[in-house]
Amino acid sequence: MNPSRQFQFKSVNYTGMAAGPRVIIMGATHGNEVCGTKAIRRVMEEIDSGRLHIAAGSVTFVPIVNPLAYAKVERSGDRNLNRDLFPKENPQDFEDHVANWLCPLLGQHDVLLDLHSFNAAKGEPFVMVGPRNNDGPLQPFKHEEQERALARILGVRRFVDGWLATYGDGVKRRSRNAGELETVLRYGVGTTEYMRSTGGYALTLECGQHDDPAAPEVAYRAIMNTLAHLKLVDAPAPAPIPLEEMEALSMVVVHDKQHADDRFTRQWASFDPVAEGEQIGVRADGTPVVAEFGGRILFPDAKANANSEWYYLTRPNPEFGR
Ligand SMILES: [Zn+2]
Repeated sequence: MNPSRQFQFKSVNYTGMAAGPRVIIMGATHGNEVCGTKAIRRVMEEIDSGRLHIAAGSVTFVPIVNPLAYAKVERSGDRNLNRDLFPKENPQDFEDHVANWLCPLLGQHDVLLDLHSFNAAKGEPFVMVGPRNNDGPLQPFKHEEQERALARILGVRRFVDGWLATYGDGVKRRSRNAGELETVLRYGVGTTEYMRSTGGYALTLECGQHDDPAAPEVAYRAIMNTLAHLKLVDAPAPAPIPLEEMEALSMVVVHDKQHADDRFTRQWASFDPVAEGEQIGVRADGTPVVAEFGGRILFPDAKANANSEWYYLTRPNPEFGR
């Protein structure tokens, strides 16, 4: 099958009469994560029927970012779109074609809300935020305040930051030379990282488990709150979640599988608490793997290959939002 004969890319823009930010809201960046698609269609229907009015700025909706993955009802078409997301001169796989359409589109916007869902059997929604303001080489950024203010009105209470820096530390440990390092760091760029690289800010909202009927509701509430918060619609500004109700976590360290036979000693799920010294797994040679500090485990991957990410450890981040 030649996907170019079967698929096209679709975005719908609504532009208000008054000045305001250019917002882009996306679903199905991963094809089996459809809560955003459903919520976007619901909001578009409200606008098209006249019940909701874009008064200022503009909003672009992308109901399905990755149509091949969506048609397959799988995370990826040919590969994970949320890695190595750059325009490609010689597009090879389907996601390269998505990137050549999507990256310029992102570049025309100021704010991205990317709506995802997760695989874990349990767990509450959470939002992934970008770095603190910095002018470092990895991910320079100057919109920390606006980005975190937006995160706090989405309607969720759990926040995670520090992904790219932690991922980058893991890459540095694995890399043998600077060229390889740069290549692999580029590999860490997904939709939000690309958006920040073009001068905007961006959030990934994980709305709940893939099949949870509540997830499209979480996504819908986040879209409506975003439109109100950024004043694209005439609606009261949503109140930010109080600091004392937030659970903010920073990714601190990623541990790799060193050998394919390294294994967890129990079935971990994202956000499971771990105590300092608690055993997490065991290396192939029998060496125990223990938590070097207390916190929560994130993205444990029992099926990881040798020399790739096995699990992340986070710790509470009392600085978030202050
Ligand atoms: Zn996803």
